[in-house]
Amino acid sequence: MPAKIAIVGAGITGLSAAYTLEKLGEDDITIFESSRRLGGKVYTNHIKEFLVEEGPDCFFTRKEGALSLIHEIGLESELVAPKTKEFGLFTSGKLHRVPGGLVTFTHLTPNAINDATFLSPEGKARALAEADQMPGQEDDESIESFFTRRFGPEFYRLAAEPLLAGTHGGDGGSLSMRALYPGYFRLERSYGSLTAGMQETKASHPKGISGSAVVVDPSLPVQSPPHSSFLTFSGGMGTLVEGIAAQFKHTKVRLNSPISDANALSDLEQEYDRVLVAVPANAAVWLLPEFRYLLEQIRHKSSAIVTFSVNRKHILSEMNLTGFLIPKHEQGALSGATWSSEKWSHRAPAGQVLMRAFLAIDEEQMNQADDEHLARLASDAIRQIITVSGPMNPLLVTRWNQALPQYKVGHLDLLDSLRNDLRSRPKIFLAGTSYGGIGVPDCLRQGKEAAYTMLDLK
Ligand SMILES: Cc1cc2nc3c(=O)[nH]c(=O)nc-3n(C[C@H](O)[C@H](O)[C@H](O)COP(=O)(O)OP(=O)(O)OC[C@H]3O[C@@H](n4cnc5c(N)ncnc54)[C@H](O)[C@@H]3O)c2cc1C
Repeated sequence: MPAKIAIVGAGITGLSAAYTLEKLGEDDITIFESSRRLGGKVYTNHIKEFLVEEGPDCFFTRKEGALSLIHEIGLESELVAPKTKEFGLFTSGKLHRVPGGLVTFTHLTPNAINDATFLSPEGKARALAEADQMPGQEDDESIESFFTRRFGPEFYRLAAEPLLAGTHGGDGGSLSMRALYPGYFRLERSYGSLTAGMQETKASHPKGISGSAVVVDPSLPVQSPPHSSFLTFSGGMGTLVEGIAAQFKHTKVRLNSPISDANALSDLEQEYDRVLVAVPANAAVWLLPEFRYLLEQIRHKSSAIVTFSVNRKHILSEMNLTGFLIPKHEQGALSGATWSSEKWSHRAPAGQVLMRAFLAIDEEQMNQADDEHLARLASDAIRQIITVSGPMNPLLVTRWNQALPQYKVGHLDLLDSLRNDLRSRPKIFLAGTSYGGIGVPDCLRQGKEAAYTMLDLK
């Protein structure tokens, strides 16, 4: 019998859940969204002639969840691959190219390690001895512990920390390998070594092993979109939000409709057969205070991004990279930057470069400083890395307060406890960025899985 279903939150998780529920034949779905727009953190802005992503800029194609949905809703033709995949690392006062296999950590070959100009001969020798190290025994461990143990401290500090922990805005010493990179974690435990595991499984996964999850989505048609580990949409990531919402036939969307506290959630529970709480844990805690002791353990970090336009003729450094990261121990005000328009040419008019700078400042400083101050901080830091002979024009300063979930060691056990305790509220379901995966594909997958779980389907 069809159910009456409420979804709290119209981020990409809530939208994916509603879309799947409709596909499964449900026709009484209402989404309650506190803000005045759909998409949550997925937000494409158009400023002057620039396409500015305020949140996600692209998605990882080697994870299950995104490409199959994009195919189903007919958005494949809108996908674009990056113009260049070269990424940089700024360390010891120099910008280095990160070898291809290390950018996504999908091909950790001896060649990739040998080509890493930022590693010392000793650092390379230690990293190349990865296969000789004993496998770990713990149920979970931090990114720092895993990569230091396997590849040595230098490789951790200069490669794994910036590329795997830094991209989560977090501290590699506490982030969970098992929750964030289960693929690598399992490979080591199964094959005794990560590189040996990658070699062994190469035949069955010719596109490489993703640390995060499944590499090849079996439901994909052979005729698939541009081949790249990362893709975006020509009209920006907002295309995905609009594309999913355009499929709705029965879903009612209530914007400016926050479910503001535990009583409001209880009212929904009375009125609806199922309620999906598709908001981050730090918002869910106000709706489910009895689970505060678990939800509050999932911390979220803040992040400030300054987007600039720069006249191309004023950039005197070579622009053959899509951007760079800075290892944590060498960061000043900046953790990294991307040259968005070098990666995706459609984002800036001819003759202009669109830059996105990620500030490495704490939340208090982010909220106290005005836009002008943050823009100056970012431009000063960038000018220390590349030579810009003219103005860097700030287009936008985005403050993401408590928006980056931190999956700490033991995160998956915490989720088990949460799932277990939630049995006391059988009509309530939780999904989204704070729980079973952070990226856009993870959230799309979680929305889909939540729809099946709510209907008690496999
Ligand atoms: C700066 C940044 C960059 C990122 N870059 C990438 C990237 O390049 N690639 C990638 O794959 N991922 C990236 N991510 C991660 C990805 O964007 C998010 O994990 C994902 O969009 C989260 O979706 P969600 O639906 O789970 O949560 P959200 O997007 O947070 O959606 C939750 C929704 O719930 C609403 N809400 C909250 N409380 C209530 C309430 N009480 N009542 C009603 N509504 C409520 C919110 O307004 C929001 O719309 C990035 C994230 C950030 C912050």
